[in-house]
Amino acid sequence: MSSTAPTRTPHANSPEPHAATAPAVAVKGVGKTFGATEVLKGIDLTVPAGATTCLIGPSGSGKSTLLRCIAFLEEATKGTITIKGDPLGFAEAANGQRTRLSPQNIRSVRSRIGMVFQQFNLWPHMTALGNVCEALVTVRKMKRKEAEERGMAQLSRVGLEHRATHYPSELSGGQQQRVAIARALALDPEILLFDEPTASLDPELTGEVLNVMRDLAGSGMTLLVVTHEIGFAATVGESIAFLDHGRLLLNGTPREVFGEPRHPRLAQFLETYL
Ligand code: ADP
Ligand code: MG
Repeated sequence: MSSTAPTRTPHANSPEPHAATAPAVAVKGVGKTFGATEVLKGIDLTVPAGATTCLIGPSGSGKSTLLRCIAFLEEATKGTITIKGDPLGFAEAANGQRTRLSPQNIRSVRSRIGMVFQQFNLWPHMTALGNVCEALVTVRKMKRKEAEERGMAQLSRVGLEHRATHYPSELSGGQQQRVAIARALALDPEILLFDEPTASLDPELTGEVLNVMRDLAGSGMTLLVVTHEIGFAATVGESIAFLDHGRLLLNGTPREVFGEPRHPRLAQFLETYL
């Protein structure tokens, strides 16, 4: 069959056509099983670039597993995940066949994602600055002096330049988590994932961490935040995703998700956590 439709041949050096418009993260049909337990069931989630998406849901619903799949700390057993249009870990052909990508490809796409954990995970034998610089020197092969300059800039971004030479044991939990955020930022990620970043903190230290995250959200970074801080989600989240028993039950603006009429499962969840 002949066709008169023009065919578009992108110039070899032109940027990928998808790069400008693709979402920061696109999760399609993702499933995850641990042994016989199906923890994630056909998740479709789009994380828009330059915005904050909050992922909420009961304990055990699969929030951490989904975040860990997006960071490729776990491998999804079904479906695909793309980062600005680039497949992470697995690619799916037109016929639906899923193939594993090369280790180099996985490393390179994964390096564009930063993650902050509930348990800070700082090195106890390194200062705040040492923690922030470590991966810059060992993984990114940056010169120590340059890494320290970048590290100081990130510590100052989280308001901790005056704590650079302190060890984690000399810092409050809120300060330790801010160091962990500075460490993630130093690697210049395209998207930053947070897994319940304030859940280990005393209530009086939660605010300082949420304020740093609010500033990052305001700076136009792409954030995907698992949190039980519903007030934060409702005010900072531009998009809310509600996970329940491994299924994405709701996904929309805070008004769409939290407004009336409320999904009964969400109402039940909010009663438990508010
Ligand atoms: P959430 O973060 O929403 O609390 P998780 O993603 O941590 O939920 O866990 C979802 C379910 O998956 C839970 O039932 C949990 O026990 C199970 N799970 C998580 N990680 C593993 C693992 N490595 N091996 C087996 N089961 C796991
Ligand atoms: Mg969790």
